[in-house]
Amino acid sequence: MTPTTAKSMPALFIGHGNPMNIVRRNRWTEGWIALGSALPRPNSILVVSAHWYIPATKVTAMPHPRTIHDFGGFPRQLYEVQYPAPGNPALAREVKSLIGLTETALDESWGLDHGCWSVLRRMYPAAIIPVVQLSLNYRQPAQFHYELARELAPLRKKGVLIIGSGNMVHNLRLVSWENLNKPGFAFEWASVASAKMKNAILTDDHASLINYRSQGREFELAIPTPEHFLPLLYVLGLKDEGDTVALFNDKAVGGSLTMTSVKILM
Ligand code: ZN
Repeated sequence: MTPTTAKSMPALFIGHGNPMNIVRRNRWTEGWIALGSALPRPNSILVVSAHWYIPATKVTAMPHPRTIHDFGGFPRQLYEVQYPAPGNPALAREVKSLIGLTETALDESWGLDHGCWSVLRRMYPAAIIPVVQLSLNYRQPAQFHYELARELAPLRKKGVLIIGSGNMVHNLRLVSWENLNKPGFAFEWASVASAKMKNAILTDDHASLINYRSQGREFELAIPTPEHFLPLLYVLGLKDEGDTVALFNDKAVGGSLTMTSVKILM
């Protein structure tokens, strides 16, 4: 068991965006670097990534997770990047024991996917802080993910930094490639959805976000599939009364994506 400390670690939702961020330095990666040096140093990191979206609840339990290059058609340079952070089998067992909502399996075959390591390699480039990933179970409804996060809240007091990695507005089919390099370019529906999401986050209206499927056409376009949105519900579920909420990297990209990220601080 990890020791309890008085102060709670922050919880973060990070918009990870395009895999090219792995090798480029830009406003997003600068934001991740700044965050890594500003936050208290965690004992371990638990990541819920959009890219481990499977029909089960699993937690990585191997001592040395591999770096997974789960993207296709990018320059070779991206496939050569390794993030050799250790795992934390004891933390994986603790996560399993904290989750009462469902059976959680200890996983020995996944590793760290790019939703996880593309961000962590900027925040913690030394790759020495242990990292564990929790899967997104696609058989479960949004409410389940929010409640599951609440069960993980005690980890914040044990020095564990919990990160949800996705993108709030994420419609790859509608990306405007010709406007990809125009900072902040957003379609009208994406701006409307993003504004509603941010308002709900900043006013603790979590119910509207859990019920994202009943929020109209803009949300339907913003969340065509749930995997990049659900990690946000984990971070909101971790918010304690009295915590503050702040946004960072709050910009759209390519019309149909937002990089907007959320910091929950004690
Ligand atoms: Zn992604």
